[in-house]
Amino acid sequence: MWLRPVHRAGASPAYSLGTVDFPVVRRAPVIRTCVGCRRRVRSTELLRVIAVGHTTGLRLVVDPARRLPGRGAHVHPDPACLALADRRRAFGRALRLTGVVDTAALAEYIEQAHAATPATEDEREPRPSSTTKG
Ligand SMILES: [Zn+2]
Repeated sequence: MWLRPVHRAGASPAYSLGTVDFPVVRRAPVIRTCVGCRRRVRSTELLRVIAVGHTTGLRLVVDPARRLPGRGAHVHPDPACLALADRRRAFGRALRLTGVVDTAALAEYIEQAHAATPATEDEREPRPSSTTKG
């Protein structure tokens, strides 16, 4: 028994589009990377964070409605992820900031959000550490 090479060029199954009388709206979830744990998840699971202020007094604010203009960073509403991001200065990198960024407001927000959520098991599977040097 030996395998024959399979040619699958353009082997997409041809679906007959016959009489579809309603538009199929496929909403692809928006995937973002958490600047803390670097996981790629749906943007709805993450907090959008933007920086306000100037280079001398930057602070991060949460943008729960994801409406604020400007470059945003995304992080899990989880103190662990915040700590990771903070340690790596990932916010600065993600938001193209230079200088010290005040994460106090963000930390507070996350702490509250974290405390408010019922204790769920932290089922975050350990992922092979792919630490990218920056
Ligand atoms: Zn995370």
